[in-house]
Amino acid sequence: MGNKVDLHMHTTSSDGKDTPEIIVRKAKELGIKMISITDHDNIDSLELTKKLCDQEKIKFVNGVELSVMFNTPYYKEGKKPFELHVLGYGFDKDDQTLHHELKINEEFRLKRILKMVEKVNAVLKENNQPLITESESQEMINKTKGAVGRPHLAQLLVDKKIVKDFNEAFNSYLVELNVPKRIITLEEGSKLIRKAGGKIILAHPGNGGSHSLSDLTTDLKVQEKIIISMLDYIDGIECYYWTHTKEQREFYINFAKKNNLIITGGTDHHGGEREQIGQLEIDDSVMEQFD
Ligand SMILES: [Zn+2]
Ligand SMILES: [Zn+2]
Repeated sequence: MGNKVDLHMHTTSSDGKDTPEIIVRKAKELGIKMISITDHDNIDSLELTKKLCDQEKIKFVNGVELSVMFNTPYYKEGKKPFELHVLGYGFDKDDQTLHHELKINEEFRLKRILKMVEKVNAVLKENNQPLITESESQEMINKTKGAVGRPHLAQLLVDKKIVKDFNEAFNSYLVELNVPKRIITLEEGSKLIRKAGGKIILAHPGNGGSHSLSDLTTDLKVQEKIIISMLDYIDGIECYYWTHTKEQREFYINFAKKNNLIITGGTDHHGGEREQIGQLEIDDSVMEQFD
């Protein structure tokens, strides 16, 4: 075990605070040998990070974290598809289909938020409250670099003192006025990454509350059945993760070995206090799988 590899990190191209320059500098200082950047539905930081890693002799793997929809009979009688995070690694970042898909996704996200602003404004107008101005919504979009969603709109409503907190923003406005997301299925995500020459990994299965299997069930026996049902579409499991217990980690590693899956891990570094780059023990053998 060591701290030589970190394959899950976010930059300012999605919801991370650190630029590629800061991340590579930190990796260098910590003596990390291999990293990947896995921004949400975005691959804009890959080129620069690769260049910086080449200069510092750090091994770099292209990465991305995708949100996908997954149907499982274990989810509330199988009635509702379920949102899940997966990681793509080692794909060709210039793949046209991948670029196209991510672009459509980003455009849809902008349209979705603008539609919601319109709906919120209609209600505010009815109640004689101050409306969200065009410059306010533009600022919200610019700040979030294309990754804009309901939490950002909730924050704007709090900032404008229309509501007192996130709960009220959602309960009074954003649940009822929601516009559905556009989201690809696990099967589509898998095809997208594999066609671009990459591998697709089930992200942080044991991390409840972050679009993971543990949101469905923390029972590892049931998780095992669900992962088996995904085997046609995944190549690996993120076994090492900062919130995984020893029991979870060992369970995922054993399962991956038994099923010939890639074993990955990372801190999910966002540049905040916790989950810092390099602060997770990951077996060195993880690196060899990417040779
Ligand atoms: Zn995630
Ligand atoms: Zn992440």
